[in-house]
Amino acid sequence: MRPIVIAANWKMNTTPADAGELARTIASRTRVPGVTRVICPPYVSLAAVRDALSGEDVGVGAQNIHHELAGAFTGEISALMLDGLATWVILGHSERRAYFNETDSLVGRKLDRAVDAGLRPILCVGEVLADRESGRQTGIVDSQLRGALEGRDPVALAAAGLVIAYEPVWAIGTGRNASGADAAAMADAIRAALRPLGWGGTAEATPVLYGGSVTSTNIGDFLGEPAIDGALIGGASLKPDEMAGIAARAGLTAAARGLAT
Ligand code: PEP
Repeated sequence: MRPIVIAANWKMNTTPADAGELARTIASRTRVPGVTRVICPPYVSLAAVRDALSGEDVGVGAQNIHHELAGAFTGEISALMLDGLATWVILGHSERRAYFNETDSLVGRKLDRAVDAGLRPILCVGEVLADRESGRQTGIVDSQLRGALEGRDPVALAAAGLVIAYEPVWAIGTGRNASGADAAAMADAIRAALRPLGWGGTAEATPVLYGGSVTSTNIGDFLGEPAIDGALIGGASLKPDEMAGIAARAGLTAAARGLAT
């Protein structure tokens, strides 16, 4: 049974002085049976969020890692450095691909480091608007997955708890979300792309999230789709009211799928 995951990507927002309080508030308002919650603050707020969430069943995640474990990479953070701070990591976010030139093969190397360090990866894929408008979205996502996953051990990645987030770039931070049906079609395409990479039945067991302008108002469109297992949330994840609404809706799906015990 795939989990229902609600993951908050705070991007470059919050400071160590205010992140703990925000995390505590969100945690207290999103306690819903059967829903896996994750908060991914900026690196410098990881300790504050970890401390604030002590005793809460909420995962703490980083937003990126370097593709090496150590070395002369000024300003970078490696998976090893997150020991005790984070148990999840977002990889291949479209903002990293667009602004920091991350390629699929680099994302693949980061996946290796995450697995080495016991971090649970959320691998982001998604097409830009021009690709969607020309009907190339499935091919783009297929090639992103092949570039990052080909030659990597599906068993190790599945054991690491790999989650894939379908995040159409045109929907991120734009207020323009995909439809539930389009997101579900892409979740099916993602699992279909995994199978020829040797994933077999593990593809069906891999959670696929939707991300892109998710709010408490539209989350039901995605969680009503059996192929979608949760959401990666940016802007709305800084708003406790929004997160409370999203988690409450996720709880309904968790209950309907027999996850809420
Ligand atoms: C994201 O950052 O992954 C994201 C989906 O952002 P937003 O919800 O703001 O579109």
